[in-house]
Amino acid sequence: MISITDLRAAYGPLPVLFGLDLNVARGETLALIGANGAGKTTTFAVMTGRLKPQAGSVSVAGRDIAGLTPMDIVSHGLALVPEGRQLFPSLTVEENLVVGAHSRRAGAWHLERVYEIFPTVVEFRKRPSTALSGGQQQLVAIGRALMSNPEVLLCDELSLGLSPAAVDVVYSALQKLRGAGLTTVIVEQDIARALAFSDRFACMRHGRIVLSGSSTAADRTEISNAYFGMR
Ligand code: ATP
Repeated sequence: MISITDLRAAYGPLPVLFGLDLNVARGETLALIGANGAGKTTTFAVMTGRLKPQAGSVSVAGRDIAGLTPMDIVSHGLALVPEGRQLFPSLTVEENLVVGAHSRRAGAWHLERVYEIFPTVVEFRKRPSTALSGGQQQLVAIGRALMSNPEVLLCDELSLGLSPAAVDVVYSALQKLRGAGLTTVIVEQDIARALAFSDRFACMRHGRIVLSGSSTAADRTEISNAYFGMR
């Protein structure tokens, strides 16, 4: 579903991705892990058109999307749940969700279906997004991404700034999407949670994938060594 080959990207003179190769199968959940600064968010930035790659290819369902605009990429079926949620504070919960449908991509997701799977946000639908707790805001951010009817969902640091209880709520909500056929990539600092939630993992260091494999069969020592650069 996702095929990334020899991807290179930089912020001005600062190179960040040094030839990244990554494949994710249709319907699979992949955990992209790695230390701060490894390049995980930058990978998402290139995949979603927020940063132009210098070289390499990114394809989704066989269509090359590298270098397209963010709007075009959403219409090709790729949606981002950004780090820090980035809801519009001046809009209601429902308005934030509707923003996600802007691409008018056809599919099975609509407001009522989002409320069905995240029922705790329904009572806030007419309230400003700022009236919600951090965990509920995270559900709205996921719902907003679903409103674009994606085939691929990229989730960046869903647990950031949330209490352990709120993180549990967010992941159990995400679990409800597992049967919906979405291909999902999660960036998550909590490695135990990332492995428990995913089918496969890929560990990044210095802008490359240095280790990948099945999450259930993952060797924690091997992951630590890859994560901290001891191999
Ligand atoms: P984190 O967990 O800290 O978000 P990450 O793996 O997502 O880590 P990135 O955010 O992709 O890493 O950052 C990779 C490198 O790019 C870091 O050295 C970072 O300082 C740099 N970087 C990120 N965003 C920018 C930017 N907008 N301008 C310049 N450099 C940036």
